[in-house]
Amino acid sequence: MLKPSDMGPALITGCSSGVGYATALAFRAAGFETFATARNSAQLGDLRAAGCQILTLDVTDEAARRAAIEAVERQFGSIGILVNNAGYGQYGPVEEISLDDMRRQFETNVFGSLRLSQLVLPAMRRTGRGRIVNVSSVAGRVSALGGGAYHASKFAVEALADALRPEVEPFGIDVVNVLPGPISTRFEAVLLKSIPDTGVQSPYFLFKERLAHRMHEFLQPGAFGVMTAETVAAIILKAGTAKRPRTRYSVGFIARFGPLGRVLAPDRIVDFVTRRSIQNTRSK
Ligand code: NAP
Repeated sequence: MLKPSDMGPALITGCSSGVGYATALAFRAAGFETFATARNSAQLGDLRAAGCQILTLDVTDEAARRAAIEAVERQFGSIGILVNNAGYGQYGPVEEISLDDMRRQFETNVFGSLRLSQLVLPAMRRTGRGRIVNVSSVAGRVSALGGGAYHASKFAVEALADALRPEVEPFGIDVVNVLPGPISTRFEAVLLKSIPDTGVQSPYFLFKERLAHRMHEFLQPGAFGVMTAETVAAIILKAGTAKRPRTRYSVGFIARFGPLGRVLAPDRIVDFVTRRSIQNTRSK
Protein backbone atom coordinates (compact mmCIF):
# COMPACT_ATOMS: atom_id res chain seq x y z
CA MET A 1 0.00 0.00 0.00
CA LEU A 2 1.33 3.45 -0.90
CA LYS A 3 1.48 5.98 1.91
CA PRO A 4 -0.58 9.18 1.98
CA SER A 5 2.69 11.15 1.67
CA ASP A 6 3.48 9.28 -1.59
CA MET A 7 0.06 9.93 -3.06
CA GLY A 8 -1.37 13.30 -1.98
CA PRO A 9 -4.94 14.09 -0.99
CA ALA A 10 -8.06 12.11 -1.89
CA LEU A 11 -11.22 13.70 -3.26
CA ILE A 12 -14.38 11.60 -3.14
CA THR A 13 -17.73 12.40 -4.76
CA GLY A 14 -21.18 11.51 -3.41
CA CYS A 15 -20.26 11.30 0.29
CA SER A 16 -23.69 12.09 1.74
CA SER A 17 -24.47 8.38 2.12
CA GLY A 18 -23.60 4.78 1.30
CA VAL A 19 -20.33 3.91 -0.38
CA GLY A 20 -19.07 7.51 -0.64
CA TYR A 21 -19.57 8.13 3.08
CA ALA A 22 -17.84 4.87 4.03
CA THR A 23 -15.01 5.55 1.57
CA ALA A 24 -14.35 9.01 3.01
CA LEU A 25 -14.08 7.46 6.48
CA ALA A 26 -11.78 4.70 5.18
CA PHE A 27 -9.37 7.14 3.48
CA ARG A 28 -9.36 9.42 6.52
CA ALA A 29 -8.69 6.48 8.86
CA ALA A 30 -5.78 5.46 6.60
CA GLY A 31 -4.26 8.91 7.17
CA PHE A 32 -5.19 10.63 3.91
CA GLU A 33 -6.02 14.29 3.67
CA THR A 34 -9.58 13.56 2.58
CA PHE A 35 -11.93 15.89 0.75
CA ALA A 36 -15.47 14.59 1.18
CA THR A 37 -17.91 16.16 -1.24
CA ALA A 38 -21.69 16.17 -1.73
CA ARG A 39 -24.40 18.19 -3.43
CA ASN A 40 -25.55 19.33 -0.01
CA SER A 41 -22.49 19.72 2.20
CA ALA A 42 -24.74 20.20 5.26
CA GLN A 43 -25.08 16.39 5.17
CA LEU A 44 -21.35 15.95 5.80
CA GLY A 45 -21.15 17.04 9.45
CA ASP A 46 -20.09 13.56 10.65
CA LEU A 47 -17.31 13.40 8.07
CA ARG A 48 -16.09 16.85 9.08
CA ALA A 49 -16.05 15.66 12.71
CA ALA A 50 -14.00 12.64 11.56
CA GLY A 51 -11.36 15.00 10.15
CA CYS A 52 -12.38 15.24 6.49
CA GLN A 53 -12.39 18.54 4.66
CA ILE A 54 -15.83 19.27 3.24
CA LEU A 55 -16.71 20.68 -0.18
CA THR A 56 -19.98 21.21 -2.02
CA LEU A 57 -19.97 19.37 -5.32
CA ASP A 58 -22.80 18.48 -7.66
CA VAL A 59 -20.93 16.43 -10.27
CA THR A 60 -23.23 17.72 -13.04
CA ASP A 61 -22.33 21.38 -12.37
CA GLU A 62 -19.25 22.63 -14.23
CA ALA A 63 -18.68 25.66 -11.97
CA ALA A 64 -18.88 23.44 -8.87
CA ARG A 65 -16.56 20.85 -10.43
CA ARG A 66 -13.92 23.49 -11.17
CA ALA A 67 -14.29 25.16 -7.76
CA ALA A 68 -13.89 21.89 -5.84
CA ILE A 69 -10.77 20.84 -7.72
CA GLU A 70 -9.23 24.30 -7.51
CA ALA A 71 -9.82 24.32 -3.74
CA VAL A 72 -7.77 21.13 -3.32
CA GLU A 73 -5.09 22.17 -5.81
CA ARG A 74 -4.66 25.55 -4.09
CA GLN A 75 -3.73 23.71 -0.88
CA PHE A 76 -1.86 20.68 -2.22
CA GLY A 77 -0.86 21.38 -5.83
CA SER A 78 -2.70 18.38 -7.20
CA ILE A 79 -5.23 15.73 -6.26
CA GLY A 80 -3.61 12.40 -5.49
CA ILE A 81 -6.64 10.15 -5.74
CA LEU A 82 -9.98 11.05 -7.33
CA VAL A 83 -12.77 8.66 -6.36
CA ASN A 84 -15.66 9.05 -8.81
CA ASN A 85 -18.40 7.53 -6.67
CA ALA A 86 -21.51 9.73 -7.09
CA GLY A 87 -24.18 7.93 -9.03
CA TYR A 88 -27.67 6.48 -9.09
CA GLY A 89 -29.72 3.91 -10.96
CA GLN A 90 -32.36 5.07 -13.44
CA TYR A 91 -34.61 2.03 -13.85
CA GLY A 92 -37.64 1.23 -15.97
CA PRO A 93 -38.39 -0.28 -19.39
CA VAL A 94 -36.34 1.29 -22.18
CA GLU A 95 -39.48 2.35 -24.11
CA GLU A 96 -40.61 4.49 -21.17
CA ILE A 97 -37.32 6.19 -20.27
CA SER A 98 -37.55 9.77 -21.50
CA LEU A 99 -34.48 11.21 -23.17
CA ASP A 100 -34.35 13.77 -20.35
CA ASP A 101 -34.12 10.97 -17.78
CA MET A 102 -31.54 9.20 -19.91
CA ARG A 103 -29.51 12.42 -20.19
CA ARG A 104 -29.71 12.97 -16.43
CA GLN A 105 -28.43 9.43 -15.87
CA PHE A 106 -25.47 10.06 -18.16
CA GLU A 107 -24.84 13.59 -16.81
CA THR A 108 -24.27 12.11 -13.34
CA ASN A 109 -22.84 8.63 -13.90
CA VAL A 110 -20.79 9.28 -17.04
CA PHE A 111 -20.17 12.95 -17.83
CA GLY A 112 -19.75 13.89 -14.16
CA SER A 113 -16.93 11.42 -13.60
CA LEU A 114 -15.46 11.98 -17.07
CA ARG A 115 -15.30 15.75 -16.61
CA LEU A 116 -13.82 15.52 -13.10
CA SER A 117 -11.17 13.17 -14.48
CA GLN A 118 -10.36 15.67 -17.25
CA LEU A 119 -10.09 18.46 -14.69
CA VAL A 120 -7.74 16.66 -12.29
CA LEU A 121 -5.40 15.37 -15.00
CA PRO A 122 -3.37 18.51 -15.82
CA ALA A 123 -2.08 18.89 -12.24
CA MET A 124 -1.61 15.11 -11.93
CA ARG A 125 0.49 15.18 -15.10
CA ARG A 126 2.57 18.08 -13.78
CA THR A 127 3.35 16.22 -10.56
CA GLY A 128 3.84 12.91 -12.37
CA ARG A 129 1.50 10.97 -10.12
CA GLY A 130 -2.19 10.40 -9.51
CA ARG A 131 -4.91 7.81 -9.55
CA ILE A 132 -8.52 7.88 -10.68
CA VAL A 133 -10.78 5.29 -9.08
CA ASN A 134 -14.19 4.91 -10.70
CA VAL A 135 -16.96 3.29 -8.70
CA SER A 136 -18.51 1.39 -11.55
CA SER A 137 -20.62 -1.76 -11.16
CA VAL A 138 -21.17 -5.31 -12.31
CA ALA A 139 -23.97 -3.48 -14.15
CA GLY A 140 -21.20 -2.20 -16.43
CA ARG A 141 -20.37 -5.78 -17.47
CA VAL A 142 -23.80 -7.40 -17.66
CA SER A 143 -26.99 -5.71 -18.85
CA ALA A 144 -30.51 -6.86 -18.02
CA LEU A 145 -34.12 -5.94 -18.61
CA GLY A 146 -35.50 -3.08 -16.56
CA GLY A 147 -32.10 -1.44 -16.07
CA GLY A 148 -31.15 -0.34 -19.60
CA ALA A 149 -30.36 3.28 -18.73
CA TYR A 150 -28.23 2.42 -15.71
CA HIS A 151 -26.42 -0.41 -17.46
CA ALA A 152 -25.68 1.82 -20.47
CA SER A 153 -24.14 4.43 -18.17
CA LYS A 154 -21.92 1.93 -16.36
CA PHE A 155 -20.88 0.24 -19.64
CA ALA A 156 -19.79 3.73 -20.75
CA VAL A 157 -17.75 4.16 -17.54
CA GLU A 158 -16.01 0.86 -18.33
CA ALA A 159 -15.30 1.79 -21.95
CA LEU A 160 -13.88 5.20 -21.04
CA ALA A 161 -11.59 3.67 -18.41
CA ASP A 162 -10.07 1.22 -20.91
CA ALA A 163 -9.27 4.14 -23.23
CA LEU A 164 -8.07 6.58 -20.57
CA ARG A 165 -5.84 4.16 -18.63
CA PRO A 166 -3.20 3.60 -21.34
CA GLU A 167 -3.44 7.26 -22.42
CA VAL A 168 -2.34 8.56 -19.01
CA GLU A 169 -0.03 5.73 -17.98
CA PRO A 170 3.04 7.46 -19.52
CA PHE A 171 2.43 10.40 -17.12
CA GLY A 172 2.55 8.20 -14.00
CA ILE A 173 -1.25 8.20 -13.61
CA ASP A 174 -3.40 5.10 -13.20
CA VAL A 175 -7.12 4.46 -13.68
CA VAL A 176 -8.74 1.70 -11.63
CA ASN A 177 -12.38 0.63 -11.70
CA VAL A 178 -14.21 -0.94 -8.78
CA LEU A 179 -17.20 -3.06 -9.82
CA PRO A 180 -19.38 -4.03 -6.86
CA GLY A 181 -22.39 -6.32 -6.90
CA PRO A 182 -25.45 -5.36 -4.82
CA ILE A 183 -24.85 -3.14 -1.77
CA SER A 184 -27.43 -2.17 0.79
CA THR A 185 -27.50 1.65 0.69
CA ARG A 186 -29.92 4.42 -0.29
CA PHE A 187 -29.37 3.29 -3.90
CA GLU A 188 -32.46 1.06 -3.68
CA ALA A 189 -34.81 3.85 -2.59
CA VAL A 190 -33.54 6.17 -5.34
CA LEU A 191 -33.82 3.37 -7.93
CA LEU A 192 -37.41 2.52 -6.97
CA LYS A 193 -38.42 6.19 -7.26
CA SER A 194 -36.81 6.46 -10.69
CA ILE A 195 -39.10 3.93 -12.39
CA PRO A 196 -41.45 6.00 -14.58
CA ASP A 197 -45.06 6.02 -13.41
CA THR A 198 -47.11 6.12 -16.59
CA GLY A 199 -50.34 4.84 -15.08
CA VAL A 200 -52.28 1.57 -15.16
CA GLN A 201 -52.81 1.75 -18.91
CA SER A 202 -49.07 1.27 -19.51
CA PRO A 203 -48.29 -2.05 -21.26
CA TYR A 204 -45.44 -2.31 -18.76
CA PHE A 205 -47.55 -1.66 -15.64
CA LEU A 206 -47.26 -5.17 -14.22
CA PHE A 207 -43.66 -5.54 -15.39
CA LYS A 208 -42.71 -2.36 -13.50
CA GLU A 209 -44.44 -3.51 -10.33
CA ARG A 210 -42.60 -6.81 -10.49
CA LEU A 211 -39.32 -5.11 -11.40
CA ALA A 212 -39.63 -2.87 -8.33
CA HIS A 213 -40.29 -5.85 -6.12
CA ARG A 214 -37.45 -7.85 -7.69
CA MET A 215 -34.97 -4.99 -7.16
CA HIS A 216 -36.19 -4.59 -3.58
CA GLU A 217 -35.48 -8.29 -2.96
CA PHE A 218 -32.16 -8.14 -4.85
CA LEU A 219 -30.82 -5.28 -2.71
CA GLN A 220 -32.10 -6.40 0.71
CA PRO A 221 -29.51 -6.69 3.50
CA GLY A 222 -28.96 -10.41 4.03
CA ALA A 223 -30.05 -11.37 0.50
CA PHE A 224 -27.63 -13.46 -1.56
CA GLY A 225 -24.45 -11.52 -2.34
CA VAL A 226 -25.57 -8.21 -0.79
CA MET A 227 -22.70 -6.30 0.81
CA THR A 228 -22.30 -3.38 3.16
CA ALA A 229 -20.92 -0.03 2.03
CA GLU A 230 -17.94 -0.60 4.37
CA THR A 231 -16.94 -3.81 2.56
CA VAL A 232 -16.90 -1.95 -0.76
CA ALA A 233 -15.11 1.06 0.74
CA ALA A 234 -12.26 -1.19 1.90
CA ILE A 235 -11.76 -2.35 -1.71
CA ILE A 236 -11.91 1.23 -2.99
CA LEU A 237 -9.17 2.14 -0.51
CA LYS A 238 -7.14 -0.79 -1.81
CA ALA A 239 -7.77 0.24 -5.43
CA GLY A 240 -6.65 3.76 -4.58
CA THR A 241 -3.51 2.86 -2.68
CA ALA A 242 -2.16 -0.51 -3.90
CA LYS A 243 1.37 -0.22 -5.28
CA ARG A 244 0.46 -2.29 -8.33
CA PRO A 245 -3.34 -2.15 -8.51
CA ARG A 246 -5.41 -4.36 -10.76
CA THR A 247 -7.22 -2.52 -13.53
CA ARG A 248 -10.52 -3.75 -12.08
CA TYR A 249 -11.73 -4.96 -8.71
CA SER A 250 -14.95 -6.96 -8.90
CA VAL A 251 -16.42 -6.95 -5.41
CA GLY A 252 -18.58 -9.81 -4.11
CA PHE A 253 -19.75 -13.12 -5.55
CA ILE A 254 -22.26 -11.68 -8.03
CA ALA A 255 -19.75 -9.24 -9.52
CA ARG A 256 -17.01 -11.85 -9.72
CA PHE A 257 -18.99 -14.67 -11.30
CA GLY A 258 -21.97 -12.93 -13.00
CA PRO A 259 -19.96 -11.65 -16.00
CA LEU A 260 -18.43 -15.11 -16.52
CA GLY A 261 -21.87 -16.75 -16.61
CA ARG A 262 -23.05 -14.04 -19.00
CA VAL A 263 -20.19 -14.65 -21.46
CA LEU A 264 -20.79 -18.41 -21.43
CA ALA A 265 -24.59 -18.34 -21.80
CA PRO A 266 -26.27 -17.59 -25.16
CA ASP A 267 -28.22 -14.29 -25.30
CA ARG A 268 -31.64 -15.99 -25.72
CA ILE A 269 -31.06 -18.16 -22.67
CA VAL A 270 -30.11 -15.10 -20.62
CA ASP A 271 -33.21 -13.28 -21.92
CA PHE A 272 -35.41 -16.23 -20.94
CA VAL A 273 -33.94 -16.66 -17.47
CA THR A 274 -33.95 -12.95 -16.59
CA ARG A 275 -37.49 -12.46 -17.97
CA ARG A 276 -38.68 -15.43 -15.95
CA SER A 277 -37.05 -14.06 -12.80
CA ILE A 278 -39.16 -10.90 -13.12
CA GLN A 279 -42.33 -12.78 -14.15
CA ASN A 280 -42.01 -15.09 -11.17
CA THR A 281 -41.63 -12.17 -8.77
CA ARG A 282 -44.97 -11.36 -7.19
CA SER A 283 -45.69 -7.63 -7.17
CA LYS A 284 -46.21 -6.13 -3.72
P1 NAP B 1 -26.33 6.02 -2.36
O1 NAP B 1 -26.29 5.68 -0.91
O2 NAP B 1 -27.63 6.41 -2.98
O3 NAP B 1 -25.22 7.13 -2.64
C1 NAP B 1 -25.15 7.79 -3.87
C2 NAP B 1 -24.42 9.09 -3.67
O4 NAP B 1 -24.31 9.76 -4.95
C3 NAP B 1 -25.17 10.03 -2.72
O5 NAP B 1 -24.23 10.67 -1.91
C4 NAP B 1 -25.81 11.02 -3.69
O6 NAP B 1 -25.97 12.32 -3.14
C5 NAP B 1 -24.71 11.10 -4.73
N1 NAP B 1 -25.13 11.77 -5.95
C6 NAP B 1 -26.14 11.48 -6.79
N2 NAP B 1 -26.21 12.39 -7.78
C7 NAP B 1 -25.20 13.29 -7.53
C8 NAP B 1 -24.74 14.46 -8.18
N3 NAP B 1 -25.32 14.94 -9.29
N4 NAP B 1 -23.69 15.13 -7.65
C9 NAP B 1 -23.08 14.68 -6.53
N5 NAP B 1 -23.48 13.60 -5.86
C10 NAP B 1 -24.53 12.91 -6.37
O7 NAP B 1 -25.84 4.77 -3.24
P2 NAP B 1 -24.45 3.94 -3.22
O8 NAP B 1 -24.83 2.51 -3.31
O9 NAP B 1 -23.57 4.40 -2.14
O10 NAP B 1 -23.86 4.37 -4.66
C11 NAP B 1 -22.53 4.82 -4.82
C12 NAP B 1 -22.00 4.31 -6.15
O11 NAP B 1 -21.98 2.88 -6.13
C13 NAP B 1 -22.85 4.70 -7.36
O12 NAP B 1 -22.00 5.10 -8.42
C14 NAP B 1 -23.55 3.40 -7.73
O13 NAP B 1 -23.88 3.33 -9.11
C15 NAP B 1 -22.50 2.38 -7.33
N6 NAP B 1 -23.00 1.03 -7.11
C16 NAP B 1 -24.01 0.80 -6.22
C17 NAP B 1 -24.47 -0.49 -6.03
C18 NAP B 1 -25.59 -0.81 -5.07
O14 NAP B 1 -26.16 -1.92 -5.16
N7 NAP B 1 -25.90 0.05 -4.12
C19 NAP B 1 -23.88 -1.55 -6.72
C20 NAP B 1 -22.84 -1.29 -7.61
C21 NAP B 1 -22.41 0.00 -7.79
P3 NAP B 1 -27.40 12.98 -2.72
O15 NAP B 1 -27.54 12.67 -1.24
O16 NAP B 1 -27.20 14.44 -2.98
O17 NAP B 1 -28.45 12.34 -3.57
